[in-house]
Amino acid sequence: MTALLEVRGLKAYYGPVQALHGLDFTLREGGITALLGANGAGKTTTLRALCGMVRATGEVTLGGELVIGRSTEDVCRMGVAHVPQGRGTFGRFTVEENLQLGAMTRRDHAAIRDDMERMYATFPILKARRMQQAGALSGGEQQMLAVARALMLRPRLMLLDEPSFGLAPLIVRELFDIFAAVNRDQGVSMLIVEQNAELALDLAGDAYLIETGSIVMAGEAAAIRQDEGVRKAYLGY
Ligand code: ATP
Repeated sequence: MTALLEVRGLKAYYGPVQALHGLDFTLREGGITALLGANGAGKTTTLRALCGMVRATGEVTLGGELVIGRSTEDVCRMGVAHVPQGRGTFGRFTVEENLQLGAMTRRDHAAIRDDMERMYATFPILKARRMQQAGALSGGEQQMLAVARALMLRPRLMLLDEPSFGLAPLIVRELFDIFAAVNRDQGVSMLIVEQNAELALDLAGDAYLIETGSIVMAGEAAAIRQDEGVRKAYLGY
């Protein structure tokens, strides 16, 4: 396997409180990896630590380049796009302005215009709403916008934090189909955090299980969903 992201001994802290206790995991180049775990296990903190948003130590490399210790903006420039929990769109800006902001670190203006049209083709609802303020969109539309904005970075790696949260099942299906298509057609690697383990294991090729700040299980998603403990705790059967 070609590794895109290698994480060794990742620890993270909120003030004096240690939230991650030395995580080791690897993301396959071009793959989708699910990070599963109960509330408070440290999933969101893992994504934040990779983006330089919490104090973290450990050795993390993206395509061989060190990540930990860099600013969030630098990590973004390295090609890591974070779609945070609760979406994180700019409510006062229009849909179109949000997409432009997603490409802020890029200078290839013609390609940015092409990508914008590609986003509107992928998410037709955003085209219909292009001049509307993001804050006025429905929850599903805002999640689509957050994902489209992240894709405007032309990322190598997308970090998706609970993308299904609060959305109707049909919208979730549509969104996850788009993740699969973006991964397949554009080769964007993804690390996805999900409470809905069933969905995440369907989408992902690999999975990790995190408990109180430590990885306790790792493997192919198909094998992890066969595990009896995982089935009882996360899949409900
Ligand atoms: P959830 O699914 O509920 O979002 P999670 O697995 O994403 O959970 P984290 O949000 O990463 O969990 O939290 C990991 C630990 O860090 C928890 O014990 C949590 O209370 C703590 N924590 C998270 N954010 C902060 C913060 N801003 N300040 C202090 N402690 C925090």
